[in-house]
Amino acid sequence: MRYGHPWVCRRMMAEGMRITQTRMVVLDILARNPKRHLSAEEVFLMAHEINPSIGFATVYRTLDLLTRMGIIQKLEFGDGRARYELTEASKKVPHHHHLVCTECGKVIDYTDFTDEEKELLTKVERELSEKYNFKIKNHIIQFCGICNHCNERR
Ligand SMILES: [Zn+2]
Ligand SMILES: [Zn+2]
Ligand SMILES: [Zn+2]
Repeated sequence: MRYGHPWVCRRMMAEGMRITQTRMVVLDILARNPKRHLSAEEVFLMAHEINPSIGFATVYRTLDLLTRMGIIQKLEFGDGRARYELTEASKKVPHHHHLVCTECGKVIDYTDFTDEEKELLTKVERELSEKYNFKIKNHIIQFCGICNHCNERR
């Protein structure tokens, strides 16, 4: 077993959690597919190929645990299937927002934020923190619509 994720391993050990093979396999799969937003089924199929003794329930519980630890985040793109990706805290994925096509399911990750967007979000976060006395650590932003490809086909 390789320990390719020192940051994650430190977090797990600090929380008294065992570094199991399933946990490492799931992390490896998500780290190696940073541009794809994998569903639990897709992660399971890949994990199963690496180690056939890994079951779906274990993969699902692992995804849930890693989400609660803030190592990965759970996304909903409106097709009823949850997707997972590493959070930027893991250093694998830079902070990005999503453009989700509701027709073909394509997801565009973008990081080329405009200054206006950055300023607006900083302001919104600050105001929300004050109003609700809520410490904001992260946000997930996605815009839903029709991609240029689907638009042309109409
Ligand atoms: Zn953002
Ligand atoms: Zn589309
Ligand atoms: Zn993404």
